[in-house]
Amino acid sequence: THFGFETVKESEKEQKVHKVFENVAADYDLMNDAMSFGVHRIWKDYFMCELSPTDNTKLLDVAGGTGDIAFRFLNYIKNKGHKNCHVTVCDINANMLEVGKIRSRNLGHDPEKISWTEGNAEKLPFEDNTFNAYTIAFGIRNCTHIDKVLEEAYRVLQPGGRFMCLEFSNVENSYAQWIYDQYSFQVIPVLGQLIAGQWKPYQYLVESIRQFPNKELFRTMIEEAGFPRFHMKT
Ligand code: SAM
Repeated sequence: THFGFETVKESEKEQKVHKVFENVAADYDLMNDAMSFGVHRIWKDYFMCELSPTDNTKLLDVAGGTGDIAFRFLNYIKNKGHKNCHVTVCDINANMLEVGKIRSRNLGHDPEKISWTEGNAEKLPFEDNTFNAYTIAFGIRNCTHIDKVLEEAYRVLQPGGRFMCLEFSNVENSYAQWIYDQYSFQVIPVLGQLIAGQWKPYQYLVESIRQFPNKELFRTMIEEAGFPRFHMKT
């Protein structure tokens, strides 16, 4: 049946995503810098400034991978002297989390302020109303059911808690889109091959960006999940 076909496709996507990040974990941070010329660091810094955590922030960073967002959070609260804060990094892939834990130790972060949990964004292993902030950076496009991810975000957040998503989107100017397509389809898999010795996972990454819903549709999905106030920055 059509339904049966969809189900197979969906579980295939989940497995494929899992395999991709299993394979790229060791080179993930290096590849991020290479593919974006280091620009992903600026986007993540900006994202943390937008979050502007205060005292008592309990953050859940979903699809948190090797900890880039969590470490920015810890640096931010340390610099500002904010008290009683904690971040939980949740990711479906144990290999990514392992790299994150090693980085965390090397960076000297306080282990009391950070925890690592293996879990699926579509079915989070946390109680209702556990956190007052939720972040997901370059992660939601890898999930099979975006609506479930949003529902789960709403469930684990306390009333008044904030959901923040950092993600690639479509380019509105068609000339810019053309340049971007050339770069992403022709250059990124080559970089993957040259730096990490792998072509396929990087081809997948490019495709997953292409297939992500456009801004308007994504906005509707966020509103449908129950989030009443929405703010988009491009
Ligand atoms: N947030 C990190 C960053 O910005 O550097 C990592 C982003 S990485 C591109 C995407 C991450 O999403 C991977 O670590 C992958 O394992 C994770 N992921 C994919 N599907 C997931 C799911 N259903 N639930 C939780 N994490 C998932």
